[in-house]
Amino acid sequence: MKILLAGRISEVAELTGFIAPISSTADIHALIFGKPGEDEIRSLSVSKAIVAENADPSYADDVVEALKAVLGKEVYDYIVLVATRINKEAGARVAQTIGAPAITEAIGVRLEDGSPVFIRSVMAGKAISKETLSSPAVIMVAPGRNKPVDTGKRVGEIQRISISGKRSVEIIERKGKERKGVRVEDAEIIVSVGRGFKSKEDLSMAFKLAELIGAQVGCSRPIAADLKWLSEEHWIGLSGKKVRPKLYIAIGISGQPQHLAGIMDSKIIVAINKDPGAPIFKYSDYGVVEDLYVFIPKLMEKLSTRQK
Ligand SMILES: Cc1cc2nc3c(=O)[nH]c(=O)nc-3n(C[C@H](O)[C@H](O)[C@H](O)COP(=O)(O)OP(=O)(O)OC[C@H]3O[C@@H](n4cnc5c(N)ncnc54)[C@H](O)[C@@H]3O)c2cc1C
Repeated sequence: MKILLAGRISEVAELTGFIAPISSTADIHALIFGKPGEDEIRSLSVSKAIVAENADPSYADDVVEALKAVLGKEVYDYIVLVATRINKEAGARVAQTIGAPAITEAIGVRLEDGSPVFIRSVMAGKAISKETLSSPAVIMVAPGRNKPVDTGKRVGEIQRISISGKRSVEIIERKGKERKGVRVEDAEIIVSVGRGFKSKEDLSMAFKLAELIGAQVGCSRPIAADLKWLSEEHWIGLSGKKVRPKLYIAIGISGQPQHLAGIMDSKIIVAINKDPGAPIFKYSDYGVVEDLYVFIPKLMEKLSTRQK
């Protein structure tokens, strides 16, 4: 079995962790975009590295062209990319060109009867599906879940290719999103607020609680997208950030599937909601049926006295 891992060097390193369960039975090559140093390339646990120095992975056109150039010369069973927005487009286009199946949101792989079976997260994270694919196939892996792994392979050959760089779109200007230092996706504890809060000013309660327990503040979509009480960096869910904290405290959040999609990897979920029928309680480890305006001040009082 031959596998091609493609992406920026950091993404290729991450992908070695994904394919580790099947790496003993595979020859693993890397297609790297950009100009990493030779030491960095050799630190990858793959047997061959192909470097497309002039390919810019922020352009789907470049990713497609580099992949097509490699796939025109060598046959791979699986072409594996991190499922970034650009790669999802590029991966789909390459799959279509070579007539291969493609899957996104792959979260694992294992060998069953000698064949790889890919595990995908489906239904907004509520279920998993097992996929057995004909080869070649394009696999797009959920980002941020894998760490580099030593698969036992060492880079024997480094090949350099260049692409024409013809693009259907051109980036004229890049404007970074305004960041205020919030990274809920890295937080170990999150206090998350929903429409149960009656005003923007009342969110100060959640910020005070977060400060007391060393948490970051997250929110449901209406708080960031509709009411604009918090910036998008706080927004958690299907169309917001996916989080994996040790403790997720959902306050005044009903628990709609689109919100749950972002929090299902949390270790412990605590819900505070005055409606005992709120769906969030079905997915919570602990539930508090109470008005948040009654419960949060009492909780903070207890926490403050404990800390004295
Ligand atoms: C394509 C699409 C993508 C979406 N993506 C996302 C996403 O990424 N993230 C996301 O969050 N949503 C997303 N949504 C929206 C989602 O469907 C819900 O509308 C949203 O999650 C609801 O937010 P909420 O729980 O804060 O509000 P509500 O559903 O209105 O819930 C408010 C809750 O607060 C409780 N409450 C009210 N007052 C109090 C009180 N005083 N004390 C305690 N509890 C109280 C209520 O009982 C209720 O359960 C998406 C929707 C679509 C269609």
